[in-house]
Amino acid sequence: MDKTIPKSDKDYSIYFQPPSLKEAKKRGKEDVSVHYEAGIADDMKTIGVGKRYLIRTYGCQMNEHDTEVMKGMLEDMGYEPTEDKLDADIILLNTCAIRENAEDKVFGELGHLKTLKQERPGLILGVCGCMSQEESVVNRIMQKHAFVDIIFGTHNIHRLPALLKEAYYGKEMVVEVWSKEGDIIENLPKKREGMKAWVNIMYGCDKFCTYCIVPYTRGKERSRRPEDVLAEIRDLARKGFQEITLLGQNVNAYGKDFTDLTYTFGDLMDDVRKIDIPRIRFTTSHPRDFDDRLIEVLAKKGNLVEHIHLPVQSGSTEVLKRMSRKYSREHYLQLVAKIKQAIPDVMLTTDIIVGFPGETDEQFEETLSLVREVRYDSAFTFIYSPRDGTPAAGMEDNVPEDVKKERLKRLNDLMTVIARERNELLRGEIVEVLVEGESKTNPDVLSGRTRTNKLVHFYGSKELSGRFVHVKVTEPQTWLLKGELVQAQPARVV
Ligand code: SF4
Repeated sequence: MDKTIPKSDKDYSIYFQPPSLKEAKKRGKEDVSVHYEAGIADDMKTIGVGKRYLIRTYGCQMNEHDTEVMKGMLEDMGYEPTEDKLDADIILLNTCAIRENAEDKVFGELGHLKTLKQERPGLILGVCGCMSQEESVVNRIMQKHAFVDIIFGTHNIHRLPALLKEAYYGKEMVVEVWSKEGDIIENLPKKREGMKAWVNIMYGCDKFCTYCIVPYTRGKERSRRPEDVLAEIRDLARKGFQEITLLGQNVNAYGKDFTDLTYTFGDLMDDVRKIDIPRIRFTTSHPRDFDDRLIEVLAKKGNLVEHIHLPVQSGSTEVLKRMSRKYSREHYLQLVAKIKQAIPDVMLTTDIIVGFPGETDEQFEETLSLVREVRYDSAFTFIYSPRDGTPAAGMEDNVPEDVKKERLKRLNDLMTVIARERNELLRGEIVEVLVEGESKTNPDVLSGRTRTNKLVHFYGSKELSGRFVHVKVTEPQTWLLKGELVQAQPARVV
C-alpha cells in the first residue's frame, strides 16, 4: 500500500494496519517473490552530487544493516556522508520500536532537529525503520513534528530514491508504509565499512512472541534464496572481509518457507563453512527451531565460531507459555546440554526479560537458577515494557516497578559474578583476536575480539589493525580480557 499524503490531511489512520495477531497469523507463504533491482534510475543518479547525508541508527543489527543499504543507495545517487548535522542535506532516523525508551530517544532527536529545519527549509528529514510501521508513532509525528518530510517503513527501503524524488519535487509529506510485505529485494547497493559485514539471510518473523512487535513491523518470515546469500558471501570473501554475521530475527527458521526445495539453516551454514572467510557468526536464534543438523554442522567449527546467542527470556515454563515462546525450561536446558556436548568450548549468551505480566517471585527465581545452570558468558537483560498492539500489552502489567527493578538488579549481579568466573577460566590461555583498532580510552592499547566475541585489550602497534593475532590472557576482568601479544599472524590479502 503506497501512499502519498498531503500535509494538510490529518487523518492518517486509514493508511495503517495496526498490529493484529489474528490478521498477521493468516498470512501465507505463497506470495513471496524475489525482485532483482536494476540500480538507481537514471534521473536520480546525480541528484545528490554536492550534497551530504547523515543517518542515525537506533536498535538492532538488522537496522544497522538496513542503514548500510540506504548509505549504498544514497552514495549511488552522488551524496557524500557527514557526521555533522549542520552540514547535512538529508538526515534520516532509522528507528527501533522494540522498547519504549528507544522511541523516546527518537522523539527527543526530532525535537532538536526542528530548529535546524526551520533555519534550513531545504533540509530533508526522514524517519524510517520499525517505528514508522506503527500508526500511533506516525500520528504523533504528524501532530507534533509535521516538519518531517518522509516517513517510510521497513519494507520500503528500496524505494528511498523514489521517495526522495517525491519529497524534492512534491509539496506533500511522503508517507510510505506497509507496502507488500512478502517480497525480497536483491541487488541493492550496500555501503560496508571495516572488516566485518552483516548479511541478511531472511526477513521477518512468524513466532509471535506475545511481547514482541517485530512480526508486525518486519512482516512474515521469508528467506533469501541460498544462491543469492552464498554469492554475496563469496563476494565479501573476495573483497577481504574477515568476519560475517548472518542476520535474521529467527535464523533457525531459515528455509522453512521454501516451497520448492529442502534446505535448512544447518545446510546453509555447512555451505558457508566452505567459503574462505575466517569467521562466521549468526544472530538471532530461536531455541524452538534450533535443530540437531545445525548443532552437527556448528561442531565442525573451522570458520564457524563457538559462540551462540540463544535468547531464553525466562527460566519459568509458565512465563514462557505466557510469552508464547513455544519451548519449556526443560526443552531449553536439554538443547543447551546437547550444544555443550557437541561443542565443549562453546560460549553462550542470551536475552532475558524480567517482570513479565504475572511473573511471581518463584518464577523469577527459576530464571536465576537457569542462569546458574547454563552459566552464560553475558546476557542482555531488560525490564518488560508493553508495546502497543501486542497480545502482552493486553495482559495486566501487575509486577510493581520497584519489584521489576529489584529483580533486574539481582539478575545483573548474578550475571556479573558468572561472567567474571567464566573469564577467569581463560587466565593464561592464548586466544585468537581480530584486531579492530586502538582502544577508545588509550591509543597505545589495541582492542579486538576473540572468536567467542569477547573484548580483548593489549599493547601493540596500530599496524596490527584488521589482522588476526594471538594474545595471552593475563588479566581477565568481568567484561574484558587484558592480555599480551604473543605472535602476530600475517595479514590476509585485502
Ligand atoms: S522470535 Fe524474536 S523477533 Fe520473533 S516474535 Fe519472538 S522475540 Fe520477536
